[in-house]
Amino acid sequence: MHRATRSSAALTALALALSLGCAPGDDERAEDAEADHDEEGAYDGLHPIGKADGVNAPLYAWPVVRSGDESRVVVAVQHLLGEHGYTLSLTGQFDDATKQAVVSFQSSKGLQADGIVGSRTWEALVVTVRPGDTDRAAVRALEDLLSQRYGYLLEVDGTLDAEAEQHLRAFQQERCLTVDGIAGSQTWHALVADTSHCSQAGRLLELHDQGLITLSTSDFGRNDGADPLANVTDAAAGRASKRSCNFPGGGRDSRLPCGTVELDEALIDAMVALREEHGFTYFVTAISGARHSTNSYHYKGRAVDIGVVDGVVVNGSTTATRKLVDACKAMGAIEALGPHNDAHHQDHVHCAF
Ligand SMILES: [Zn+2]
Repeated sequence: MHRATRSSAALTALALALSLGCAPGDDERAEDAEADHDEEGAYDGLHPIGKADGVNAPLYAWPVVRSGDESRVVVAVQHLLGEHGYTLSLTGQFDDATKQAVVSFQSSKGLQADGIVGSRTWEALVVTVRPGDTDRAAVRALEDLLSQRYGYLLEVDGTLDAEAEQHLRAFQQERCLTVDGIAGSQTWHALVADTSHCSQAGRLLELHDQGLITLSTSDFGRNDGADPLANVTDAAAGRASKRSCNFPGGGRDSRLPCGTVELDEALIDAMVALREEHGFTYFVTAISGARHSTNSYHYKGRAVDIGVVDGVVVNGSTTATRKLVDACKAMGAIEALGPHNDAHHQDHVHCAF
């Protein structure tokens, strides 16, 4: 696992973003069907990314589980709460007793105590499980997911014996995870979110995991599941990615498209190549989320916005931003806009494929 390596240059740069303050508010602009005008780049007036995506940001986007839900994932939540000392019936129904235990657990961890299991709560709930662990509720959670959700034939007995370890390794191999027989955050996330790292979208998750790129966990504060990390997580699970629905802080914004879109393979390939072939470290502020022109390629799953390049917050033209635009063009981008070639892109680089 790479959890300890998250203090990347990009995150350091985000602290700088806070000190630089926010970009000006939205200009009134004519809609232009020919080119995208991103109305949000690195920041918006309300939610600088440094605040939403600082060092306390979750590593992964996890499914939200709440009252009324009924699934194997709820069973896992109930087992994991047991690991932390809460005794619950393992019904798979997110009932009042489960919610009360979640609220209590969140309070004990200094998390927002809303009784909803989101990414921060998941990352506090999961614990590393190793071969030889005996009579542990967390092992039962793991075994239940492997057997009841993914069809591996093993007994849910709370002990990670040689046979259970073999199945865990098989799951890790099948999903292109680190095959070590140890369930850390990467394996737990794949079990809970049903992601695979075998695809190019999964490769993006790996790069994010390693701190070589950073996918923002905030859709500018909208809480609508359309942030870049959620977009790529959905793609890595074979699902369409969400487009923005809400105002920052919540509530449906009718100017936004909502719904979902499948991320274009050319876009995902280019994002991987920006790291692996062109060597950039970068911070992604938007893919299919955020607010853009109505006809924006973002809403077609074909564009990415980058707000930090090689550890430096984009704020006017630099060698790095020009190189990034050139790299996009070299990979066949249909739009490659940055501070030096577009007045509307002073605080980020926009590439569409
Ligand atoms: Zn854009």
